[in-house]
Amino acid sequence: MSSITVCARFRPLSSKEKRDHNDSICIHILDAGTLIFKDEKEEDHLFCFDRVFCQESEQSDVYEFLALPIIQDAVNAINGTILTYGQTGAGKTYSMEGPNILEGNEKKKGLLPRVVEGLFDCLRSSEKVYTVKLSMVEIYMEKVRDLFDLSKDNLQIKEDKIQGIYLSGVTEVSVLDPEEALQNLCNGIANRAVGETQMNMASSRSHCVYIFTIQQECTGERRLKTGKIILVDLAGSEKVEKTGAEGKVLEEAKTINKSLSALGNVINALTSGTPGKANHIPYRDSKLTRILQDALGGNSRTALLCCCSPSTLNASESLSTLRFGARAKHIKTSPRANYNRDKCEKKQLDLDICPVKDELYEM
Ligand code: ADP
Ligand code: MG
Repeated sequence: MSSITVCARFRPLSSKEKRDHNDSICIHILDAGTLIFKDEKEEDHLFCFDRVFCQESEQSDVYEFLALPIIQDAVNAINGTILTYGQTGAGKTYSMEGPNILEGNEKKKGLLPRVVEGLFDCLRSSEKVYTVKLSMVEIYMEKVRDLFDLSKDNLQIKEDKIQGIYLSGVTEVSVLDPEEALQNLCNGIANRAVGETQMNMASSRSHCVYIFTIQQECTGERRLKTGKIILVDLAGSEKVEKTGAEGKVLEEAKTINKSLSALGNVINALTSGTPGKANHIPYRDSKLTRILQDALGGNSRTALLCCCSPSTLNASESLSTLRFGARAKHIKTSPRANYNRDKCEKKQLDLDICPVKDELYEM
């Protein structure tokens, strides 16, 4: 069993925070993994994480600590998941993508382009025959939308013995090199923006999920190894209802709060069970938790990056983000290598694995 790696990251103060709040900061970082948070009533809260990334931290620091071990596992057929959590404007997308995934700014590159490059570096050095496939979906108002094919706007989540949880009919693009992967991801991100104008939604009101599936032939053995890396840029965790939102914005807020609460409830159920006693885990309460079922309680190595503003202006949202992370720290997952013996007769790696019928569930 391994615990989820939980990190906190504080972005630099924004110009608004500097202007309106006199540079006032609510955190004091004690060491690489510990911080003291001062709430609105000037009370101190101590938090211990696997790592705390301060305002001066580099994108490469976050990548090396959170993503590199996950890439190394994925090429050994162990699934990995990285989630960014936090209120809108806290630095989730900056951490995940960087300012622009195709932009050559080495320093500012986020996790996504770094994972693409690191993954291909790792695969090329292993000298095995491999394929990498990419999918990209968005969960908006409890519907899973394929960002590589906008006509697929309500994908169903299914489960089977071989693949675990998967998205039925999702577009999977085979990519040969990092450039092709990045170009496809860029197209997916652009499709997200198309949806925004059509549906009048801001990207912070949906969860964005990037899925890498890596298959390799094992030398000397007639079997395939399959590893998955899932990156999730979660919707903003702020409590929109309190701001007097109405109509569509309120509906969106309720749906997001519901799915993030479902995520919180799953975390609570996973961490509060009686040892040795099976506990009901409510994965099916939202599309998000259902997609993340393997990542949270099953076969995956998982990392959570809790993104926060350091400003006293956002103290209450930051405190709630840090508490969410502290809770998640207690979850244990059971990562194991995925070998597919049944399919070893097939020489071609680019296989579509048929779901086992009697193990099929639909949400
Ligand atoms: P979110 O996705 O959580 O809503 P963003 O990632 O879009 O937030 O960040 C909000 C703003 O803060 C953006 O302008 C972004 O460039 C900036 N920002 C976030 N994190 C950092 C960071 N670590 N260093 C510099 N700027 C950052
Ligand atoms: Mg964002």
